[in-house]
Amino acid sequence: MKITFLGTGTSQGIPVIGSNHPVCLSENPKDKRLRVSVLIEWDAFVYVIDCGPDFRQQMLNAKCFKIDGVVFTHEHADHTAGLDDIRPFYFRQGNIPFYAHKRVLKAMRQRFDYIFTDKDKYPGVPSVIQHEIENKPFQLGNINVIPINGFHHKLQVFGFRFNDFAYLTDMKTIDEDEIKKLNGVKVLVVNALREKEHISHFTLDEALQLIEKVKPKTAYLTHISHYLGFHDDVQQKLPKNVYLAYDNLQIEL
Ligand SMILES: [Zn+2]
Repeated sequence: MKITFLGTGTSQGIPVIGSNHPVCLSENPKDKRLRVSVLIEWDAFVYVIDCGPDFRQQMLNAKCFKIDGVVFTHEHADHTAGLDDIRPFYFRQGNIPFYAHKRVLKAMRQRFDYIFTDKDKYPGVPSVIQHEIENKPFQLGNINVIPINGFHHKLQVFGFRFNDFAYLTDMKTIDEDEIKKLNGVKVLVVNALREKEHISHFTLDEALQLIEKVKPKTAYLTHISHYLGFHDDVQQKLPKNVYLAYDNLQIEL
């Protein structure tokens, strides 16, 4: 299985528009972060988690020429706003399968009504196949994907376990029973916004506590704010098996 971090930034991305914060001014490519998303490839299958406003650029960067579907964590704009840019995949492949919670599909139907409508569709508008997911395993390619239910302040969000790989983003709280589903995972990706407390995201300490509990072989931090600091400085402070993810990082497992 190959994982490509398409984006590792929080909702505004890094640099933030108009910001003079030193991290936003950094020349280090590892300090430039598009909105959060990952590409997961195994055998002949290619899935992407979330479809934020940087989706087009991310697909170009990753030289991705086909996707078997998009899996959504939740409906916030930094995870869904790039939906129109599935068009090139739609033109080549036909209707694109979407996997999301019922509530998330409803939100997308409202925001992108022209994509989800059956009537008088403008030529060239993409079409999707809606798959509702609940908090129980579902099939993607030849894998049984296990949803991990968590909360982003009060909003339900899904993380996903693909065999030995698990991806959690935009989480603030996860029930113990859900954490148990991560037992034995080799690579865990978890959101870590910044050091200071935040109402809807894990802080660095909270992310590290979860990693300590799950004990994966390696862990990667994502959904990062410029307030967390420079990539190279933060990396030095992290435990041995924990890495700050950065855009275009690829890992194999
Ligand atoms: Zn987000």
